[in-house]
Amino acid sequence: MPMQCAAAVFPPTTKALCSVRKLTNLAQLAQWQAEIETRARPIAFVPTMGNLHAGHLHLAAQAQALTAKPLVLVSIFVNPLQFNDVADLARYPRTLDDDLARLHEAGVDAVFVPPVDALLPEAENHGVRIDPGPLAERWEGAARPGHFAGMATIVAKLLHLIRPQFALFGEKDFQQLAIVQAMVRDLNFPVDILAVPTQRAPDGLALSSRNRFLNEDERATAPKLYAQLVQAAGALTVAESVESVLHKARAELTTAGFIVDYFTLCDATSLQPLSRLSANSVLLAAAQLGAVRLIDNLRISP
Ligand code: AMP
Repeated sequence: MPMQCAAAVFPPTTKALCSVRKLTNLAQLAQWQAEIETRARPIAFVPTMGNLHAGHLHLAAQAQALTAKPLVLVSIFVNPLQFNDVADLARYPRTLDDDLARLHEAGVDAVFVPPVDALLPEAENHGVRIDPGPLAERWEGAARPGHFAGMATIVAKLLHLIRPQFALFGEKDFQQLAIVQAMVRDLNFPVDILAVPTQRAPDGLALSSRNRFLNEDERATAPKLYAQLVQAAGALTVAESVESVLHKARAELTTAGFIVDYFTLCDATSLQPLSRLSANSVLLAAAQLGAVRLIDNLRISP
């Protein structure tokens, strides 16, 4: 990957400008904010849980490409509130040194890596939560109770602390994006939420930190999830019945070895199921392959 740090883009400069600034607590974040105040540039914020891959780096690159020329801050925080399974939290990949090297190479301006107790000083009895409302009831919300309340609570905290003008989220996590957009709209957060298209491996598999848990056979099977989304979208646009298209896709995935949780056509804003294609439709899918839960989606219109 070519070096794209500030030194390469805006010479002459110093080595310091070329390093990503690592902020490990709230005081360091506040100090950085005070330092950048005079530069009159907005902040574009990319929240992540680390174990960065090309999908995350694409979000950072999109932030850097904004015409407002923001300073780009990436956060890395494995949020315990959004895991409803302690084993899943414990095994979530943590690769901080690699992540920092990638962010350095990508030329982002700062990375915020708070320890858990900096954001959740009373982790055990952190009682106040954002209620994500009806958007969180179905799909991932049904499979992972409390997940979206935990996600929204930490995203709200990060938005308050960082005060960005822009925050970028991947369409890969379509329901998460819809909930964040609704939270920002309904609670009047002063931030623009920007949606970034899903980045995929050449065979179509959506990039994800969890893909590393697929064994060789599962990795070879995994792209069938996206292939079925593409096939279903094609069938729906030539007016096949929604029910039969969805049924066929679920059956094919089951035959291929997936345990399908949902494969559904929804309104892209309300996430309510649709019985016919509309101008604002999305196919949402989640399926278990071995030990890995894969999610993916595809926007379609008639
Ligand atoms: P995570 O670290 O999994 O919480 O993801 C952090 C952000 O990166 C979220 O906004 C995700 O939607 C986004 N993201 C994850 N995978 C991809 C991908 N393959 N393409 C685009 N964005 C992604």
